[in-house]
Amino acid sequence: MPNCENCGRKWAWKRIVLKTLKFTNKANCPYCGQTQYIVAKSRKKTAIFSFLPAFIIIMSALIFDLDGWDLLLLTPTLILAGLFVYPFFMKLSKENEAGLLSRETATKK
Ligand SMILES: [Zn+2]
Repeated sequence: MPNCENCGRKWAWKRIVLKTLKFTNKANCPYCGQTQYIVAKSRKKTAIFSFLPAFIIIMSALIFDLDGWDLLLLTPTLILAGLFVYPFFMKLSKENEAGLLSRETATKK
């Protein structure tokens, strides 16, 4: 679970999920009040998490010969499972990842 970069305290799983569901990566620390940005530890890991549920659904449909109703139940289950796991791979930063990236490209030029 991610820690606040300012005070070092661990954030609750619920807080990360709620913030990401709102499609924002910005959140105030509940302990010290400083703005933190939720960043993915590695872009590869996040890509795997978004790709894996789709892959599992397709594979299990082929292997177990699932019908429409099975898939209808399987899909939200996998999405929820993914939602449960991914905050463990998140990291908090004082700076916005997007801002860091644009600065990186600016120095390269
Ligand atoms: Zn804090």
